[in-house]
Amino acid sequence: MRTVNAYAAPSATEPLVPVTIERRDVGPTDVLIAIRYAGICHSDIHTVRGEWGEIAYPQVVGHEIVGEVLEVGADVTRYAVGDRVGVGCMVNSCRECENCLAGMENYCLNGMTGTYAAVDRDGTITQGGYSTHIVVDEDFVLRVPESIPYEAAAPLLCAGITTYSPLAHWGAGPGKRVAVVGMGGLGHMAVKIAAAMGAEVTVLSQSTSKEVDSLAFGATRHLATADGSVFRELRNTFDLIINTVSAPINIEAHLRMLRLDGTLVNVGAPPEPLPVRVFTLFSNRRSFAGSSIGSIGETQEMLDFCAEKGIAPAVEVIAADRVNEAYERVLASDVRYRFVIDTATLAG
Ligand code: NAP
Ligand code: ZN
Ligand code: ZN
Repeated sequence: MRTVNAYAAPSATEPLVPVTIERRDVGPTDVLIAIRYAGICHSDIHTVRGEWGEIAYPQVVGHEIVGEVLEVGADVTRYAVGDRVGVGCMVNSCRECENCLAGMENYCLNGMTGTYAAVDRDGTITQGGYSTHIVVDEDFVLRVPESIPYEAAAPLLCAGITTYSPLAHWGAGPGKRVAVVGMGGLGHMAVKIAAAMGAEVTVLSQSTSKEVDSLAFGATRHLATADGSVFRELRNTFDLIINTVSAPINIEAHLRMLRLDGTLVNVGAPPEPLPVRVFTLFSNRRSFAGSSIGSIGETQEMLDFCAEKGIAPAVEVIAADRVNEAYERVLASDVRYRFVIDTATLAG
């Protein structure tokens, strides 16, 4: 065991504080990673505040992890000391169910093991990336291309893959009209990736304050939904809508913007239900779908795609002691566009 520095939530209602946690010894198939940067995902906030259900405290969150391999187990074949690597939202799965065997561990029928707040195979609760080191089975470790700086690579491990996977699955590309709802961490990656895939991208945001950025990220237009007229004007327009909003929105109004055979994919994860009238789906044979992160294979494909296309998130690097302030800014939709913790500030 190794004692390492971290930042943890002591309860659902208190600010995060510095702590020490234990990381397991490096097993035969494990990789010990010296974490360089960890992104702050809105899921971290939903989790520590108990919005998705009760969790055990203290809890270290963070599932956008990048760093360097410090040590490898005796049977590790794919990684060596010094490699640039990443870890996303999962650290294991059953490896036996139909979905795991099909290479979709993120849909493991026995429940993939989340990088934090999940029961690990040794019975302990997993602790995430707001920390200096982590030990992960090599099968759940990704290779970070040389051309992507560490701090920019971190958000790709959740925000990147969670938007890449549905965009690729539902065929975003030339001739397809894609709308991205909410331009925060996930939303801004959805815009960059969909544009790089060749789709025509519209951003639907609460206001026009992020318009210049939307266009710079590759969108062809940015519209404010606070003015309800947008919903009327864009009726029957989009092939694909990616909803990244962390709170409940009027899903009906958004579904009506889908054209024939269009799909609205919800990746935003508010705990409340989103009501849908079936008649809205009957028109235009619309689909309302969900998508959960992406598989390990797709995550590597996404990292390589971003390297090839020169895509990187817009990040604001912060010291660990600014994490509580960063949470408030995320909640106020004031993130431009992902906070990333420099874990060197956790040392000592
Ligand atoms: P984020 O950075 O906070 O972005 C969410 C954006 O949604 C905000 O920037 C804002 O964009 C918009 N928004 C926020 N509150 C709103 C409201 N009340 N009404 C309308 N729009 C609102 O969050 P994130 O890290 O991108 O995560 C987004 C959601 O995805 C979270 O619920 C997270 O848990 C979930 N998530 C799901 C998966 C998955 O596998 N499905 C993976 C990762 C995250 P504008 O300022 O442009 O309006
Ligand atoms: Zn996330
Ligand atoms: Zn499985």
